[in-house]
Amino acid sequence: MKEYTKITKAILHWYEKNARDLPWRHTHNPYKIWVSEIMLQQTQVSRVIVYYKRFLEKFPNIGTLAQAQWEDFLPVWRGLGFYSRGKNMLKTAKIIVQEHDGEFPTALESLPGIGPYTAAAMKSFAYGQSEPAIDTNLERIFQRYFGCSKKGVIPRAKALFSTNKKEAPSMNHALMDLGSEICKSRKVNCKQCPLHEDCYFLHSEQKEKWQQSLISGRIGKKVISKKIPMEVAVACIQKNGKYLIAKRRKEKGGNWEFPGGKREKGEDWRHCIKREVQEELGVEISARPHFFEETWEEGDYFWRLRFSRCQILSGQITLHEHTQIQWVLPSEFKKYSLPEANKKAITKLMKMKMS
Ligand code: SF4
Repeated sequence: MKEYTKITKAILHWYEKNARDLPWRHTHNPYKIWVSEIMLQQTQVSRVIVYYKRFLEKFPNIGTLAQAQWEDFLPVWRGLGFYSRGKNMLKTAKIIVQEHDGEFPTALESLPGIGPYTAAAMKSFAYGQSEPAIDTNLERIFQRYFGCSKKGVIPRAKALFSTNKKEAPSMNHALMDLGSEICKSRKVNCKQCPLHEDCYFLHSEQKEKWQQSLISGRIGKKVISKKIPMEVAVACIQKNGKYLIAKRRKEKGGNWEFPGGKREKGEDWRHCIKREVQEELGVEISARPHFFEETWEEGDYFWRLRFSRCQILSGQITLHEHTQIQWVLPSEFKKYSLPEANKKAITKLMKMKMS
């Protein structure tokens, strides 16, 4: 127990000086905490801040959200991706108002879209309960510090949180900040870490092995992610100085996008883009090598989007996945809310000469 008390003190002391000032850390309102936690699932903090404020201006409480339709909801969510989260929020708001008098029930996990992590975070941040919110950040820190397996994280987290129940919310925040700023998945800053004195990972041969594995996971300057790859070929189909964009069905978010889709295991990129466009629009295309690649990590996934300029070779456009298409000039892209992850590719596209 002595060791746990020492760790708690070190973490809380570090947090006092290094806490990130995030808008949802200034409230205990369960509704606002819930909104932030759902948005933070699979989305970076910096992006969530903007959406969170806008969302609460439009839907300041559970009552206003429960009255909303998908059409009202979509404009404030558009761009955050993973639209099933939004659908679950609308369902949850209605359930809370209709079945629980507007209050979140104790059985948070019975609500759509609330899993064990979100439930624990809400219990901690909204209700001040001594609940460790175990996410990948916390797991990584514990596994490194204690040198334990994934299974060993829960008992240790419980023991740690029992040393200072009152400070459990700060402990959760602190561990989140440590995981995102100091003890990252691919980079560690052990010198700045409050746990460096007794960290197993740092003082064993583990760190060296890990660094070696990172180095051997590199090709040139590019890092091969150990996360689950999500590779998407994106077709920028051009004709008469314009590019084709297509509107997704309402149940898939209803926003505009370039056609394309996920690369199958072992599939050639060019084959992938041709197959996807054939499946979505029913036309055969030619595709140039990609002119831009966007990559990022989100939760357990490593995303890679490759953008290629394409031309239709044969066939009539038939919509299988979309509700409408539009041929737009590069200068008109800004009128359409295309995905955030397309921004850099669009900027490149606008500078390229049409062929
Ligand atoms: S000392 Fe290094 S490896 Fe250990 S918990 Fe801190 S940052 Fe992570």
